Formats: sequence, structure tokens, C-alpha cells
Amino acid sequence: MAKKPLTKSGSFPVIGQMRIRRLLAQSLRAGRAAHAYLLVGPGGVGKTAVALEFARLLLCSGDGDQPCEQCDDCRISRTLQHPDLRIVFPLPAVKKSSSSDDDDNAADALSEEIAATITRLTRDPYAATEIEKKSAVGSTALQLIKIGEIRSILHSAMLKPYQAARKVFVICHADTMNDSAQNAFLKVLEEPPEAGYFLLTTEREQMLRPTVRSRCQRIPLFPLPAEDLAKALAESGVEDAAANLSAQLSGGSVTRARELAKGDVRALQACVIDFLKASATCDPFKLPAAADALLGGESFPQHVAFDLLKLFFRDLSVRRSASAQASGLTFGESEAIVDGVLSAFPDVDSDAAARAVDECAGHLARGYTETFALYTLAIRLRECLGPRASTKHSSTRSTHASHA
Ligand SMILES: [Zn+2]
Repeated sequence: MAKKPLTKSGSFPVIGQMRIRRLLAQSLRAGRAAHAYLLVGPGGVGKTAVALEFARLLLCSGDGDQPCEQCDDCRISRTLQHPDLRIVFPLPAVKKSSSSDDDDNAADALSEEIAATITRLTRDPYAATEIEKKSAVGSTALQLIKIGEIRSILHSAMLKPYQAARKVFVICHADTMNDSAQNAFLKVLEEPPEAGYFLLTTEREQMLRPTVRSRCQRIPLFPLPAEDLAKALAESGVEDAAANLSAQLSGGSVTRARELAKGDVRALQACVIDFLKASATCDPFKLPAAADALLGGESFPQHVAFDLLKLFFRDLSVRRSASAQASGLTFGESEAIVDGVLSAFPDVDSDAAARAVDECAGHLARGYTETFALYTLAIRLRECLGPRASTKHSSTRSTHASHA
């Protein structure tokens, strides 16, 4: 996917979020840009993409609302290698045998991975900004922005810009700063250097200290409209029907939409519904096959199936609260199934079901077998559905029959 270069510089474009992008550009041009912004929003909506675009605008010597792409600064910042731009993301701890301060060496030891991540970002501002590194015991090491990295930023921020009028620091997943890193960072936020600008992104703003948050201008980014996503996917070479369905199922996330577009989303959607049916009936003959099918496909990472399960329960809530309006449903075409579940199980607890799905993902991450994790999930989901409405039996049957 994304074979065609879509912008002049050949990278995947920033999608939507126009109101926020204009607001940032206008405050800069009006001389009112804040020294620190906190871009907040769920995964895949473009926090890093918007931050990088604004970072390039802060460095650009032009005066437009977009990086001019003509000036020296734009030419250099296109590769994200501008001397006045620094991009920071969480790193796994790296052990060095004889060092007393192991973790501060992470940036040195991982320099190749960091360079590769930045290269990926130049082609695709939605690329992952966490470096995966398996620890010795096999689990993924904890990703943190450590105090060493923040000290280095503080030092660099105090120096004059090399080339541009400003110095820009993009701090991805800022919530992964540990306590001492946040403490150190607070100092620069309290008295930011005149030319220093800090763009922080986070999916979990509650993990940031209130003192850090209160010194940043908060910029909320919301899930993208399905139309914007479908258009971007289609323009990057995804076939129209797949682009539309992936966009609808993505919950407004570019990352999820692209993952979905890579595989057969319709087939996975059917697997999710089969698993729910097997869970609802606790059918010992159907459950094993439904569980296998749910996680057995090669075309999606495991979490996509879990995301879809949670989206189904979100749809139940949306449908229940929004009278006859079905437009907000991500399972759009499966409206009849959503309605069937609601009339058969009027007391369904969608929030508890979503938590059960998260717990199941947690079980798998901790190494439980898929059989154990999914059977436990099926039992939990059956509990979350609540008692079956006896008077509504016939409508449930007809729903089941029509999708058998
Ligand atoms: Zn420029």
C-alpha cells in the first residue's frame, strides 16, 4: 500500500485535522505561538504528523500557512534532519555491562534504530515512533523517555538556533517520560528559551504531571471522519470498496485503516460476529472453530480482531443511545446484527465487554494459550450480554438465521 508518492516530497500526506492545522499556523503568523503544545488524542489520528508539519512550519523562513518547500530550511527539514529540529521518542532500556547508569545509554546504543525510525517518518508521518526491542526474557522491554534524553534536550534548547529562527523539539509519547524526566522537563517549560518550541504528543495525558500539562497549550485531535480516510486510502492505491470499509471500521485512525486495508476486512468482520454468536450461546461445538478463525488469520495483527470486537460493543452503545440513527456505526452493514443483539440482550454491558476484550489481549501478551484466553473471553462476554430477553426470542432467531 501507499506506493504512490502523494506530496511533492514523496511522503504520505497529513490527513484531515484542518481546523487544528490552521489554528496552529494562524497563531504562529499572528506572533502568538505558544512555546509548548500538547497534542492529545487517540492512536493513529495524526498527532505526530501534525506536530512534524508544524515543526517544519516553525523552521520555515516563509510566511505561509504551510511549509513553503522553497526555502533552505524547508529543503533540509524535509528529511527531518534539520539541525534545529530534534525528534524524541521512547526507547527500550539497553543494558551495558559495566555502566552504572545503563538506561541513559539507550540513545547511543540504539542510534541505528533511531535513524531508521526518523527515515520512516520522512516517508510516512504515521509510522510508529516506538522502537521495539525484545528483552532477554522475550517480552517487549518497557519504552521510556529517560532523564538523560531530557537533560540533553535542555542543554540543546539553551543554545542559539544553528540556522533557522527557532529550535523545535518534537517529543512523541511524552507520557513515557518517567518521573525524574518530567521533573527535569518542567524546568524548561517554566522558562522556555526565546527560540525554543516544544511539541509534545500523547495518547495518555493523565500520565503527565498536572504541572507539565498546565504549561502546555492543549491541542485535542479527534478521530478522523471516515470519508477523509477512505479518500486518502484510495489515493494511495487501495481499491475503493476496501478503502471505504477499512475507513469505516478504523474508528478514525489512519494506522488502523491502513492495517485493515492490507487484509480482507470483510472476512475478519464475519469471524468477529461468528465468535460473538458462539460466545452468546456458549456452544461447545462452534466455539473452538470460531476462536481459531478469529485469531488464526495471517492478514491482520492480532489486535485488529480485538479492536473489531470492541468496536462491535461500542456500536451497541451508540445504537442504544442514538434512537434510530445508525450513521455512527462502524459495523455499518451489520446493523441488523447490532439490533438483534440489543433486542435479545437488552441489559448488555458494553463497557464491561470492552474491558473483557482488553483483559483477553493482556492474557495473550502474558503468554497464556489462545485457547485459554479466548474461552475465558467467551465466558466473560456471555456474562456481559446479560439475561436473554425471553419475549424477543423470535427476533434473535431471525437475525441469526439471516446471517448463518
Ligand atoms: Zn520554507
